[in-house]
Amino acid sequence: MKKNIAVLRGDGVGKEVVKGAIEVLKAIGEQYDHEFSFQHALIGGTAIDKEGTPLPADTLEVCKHSDAVLLGAVGGPKWDQNPPHLRPEKGLLQIRKALNLYANVRPVTCFNSLLDASPLKREIIENVNFVIVRELTGGLYFGKPSGRKIENGEETVVDTLSYKRVEMERIIEKSFEMARARKKKVTSVDKANVLESSRMWREVAEEVAKRYPDVALEHMLVDNAAMQLIRNPRQFDVIVTENMFGDILSDEASMLTGSLGMLPSASLSSNGPSLYEPIHGSAPDIANMNIANPIATILSAAMMLRLSFGMEDEAKAVERAVEQVLAAGYRTADVVQFPRKSISTTEMTERIKEAL
Ligand code: ATP
Ligand code: MG
Repeated sequence: MKKNIAVLRGDGVGKEVVKGAIEVLKAIGEQYDHEFSFQHALIGGTAIDKEGTPLPADTLEVCKHSDAVLLGAVGGPKWDQNPPHLRPEKGLLQIRKALNLYANVRPVTCFNSLLDASPLKREIIENVNFVIVRELTGGLYFGKPSGRKIENGEETVVDTLSYKRVEMERIIEKSFEMARARKKKVTSVDKANVLESSRMWREVAEEVAKRYPDVALEHMLVDNAAMQLIRNPRQFDVIVTENMFGDILSDEASMLTGSLGMLPSASLSSNGPSLYEPIHGSAPDIANMNIANPIATILSAAMMLRLSFGMEDEAKAVERAVEQVLAAGYRTADVVQFPRKSISTTEMTERIKEAL
């Protein structure tokens, strides 16, 4: 197959880890006889420096004409004092909006050889394998009205949790599609005992479930879900939830596995290319030192193969290679456990390519 991949390396370690992911994609392409082409474009602080804007128009064009987007990370102390429209993160928000990236998908799996890197006990996290599907375009982040005012002499503030039914439908449908290819269980997380939006969410989930008789649906209140993630994370397969609940739960869940440098994500579009990025940021404290962990970005590339290109075997091959390298004891500095020695970004990439 022939695929065009837009590459936005961004700032800080973004540049280093994306390089690793591209090398792995090239290796997979050769092995399985695919033609991957890579179109580089600017985003974030680097784009501000070179083009005076965090998301240049031609970057958006390159992305729109691609089959998928690979992103490193944006930001850094150099631009922290910039006015809001000249902040690197602004570029990220704009691209999410422009590409209609409505579903943020974060798989949570614990690699057997890294079980000791988690703050939780091995018995609890062994064989954990679930995915959080977070709605990205609605809810409290975008609802109107939002702001402060003086009402009857009292300072008052309001944020609005608003959703259209179709926005709930498409994300919940997505979660059922994903569950169908996994362990066939959807946990819909809400606060239906308090919120009207959650009561509608529950209603929509029930409706969608009728079209997926082979998938089990359970509802869980968000406070209980926060507790269950720590108590017994193995009970989950696909968790689907609205924007803010998803934001909080996915950060909580990421700690089950230990290191930020290990975790990939996908932001799926409703009508165009999807975007893949590690969950970590630009890590300016370790930029240009060749010590960043490239695995989160390499696993994000695996998600691209699976979700955007339908290349399941190829995705599995990448994931197996990562697992093999970890099992052989290789670690970057963020996950290294005494008395092991750590390896560099480029060496980790080499090892993974070798395992492939
Ligand atoms: P953002 O706001 O962009 O999410 P952040 O402030 O959350 O960024 P990160 O850039 O993710 O911060 O970095 C948090 C810590 O994790 C830093 O100490 C950084 O060095 C470390 N870190 C992040 N990514 C990696 C990686 N790939 N490999 C090793 N360490 C990492
Ligand atoms: Mg962060």
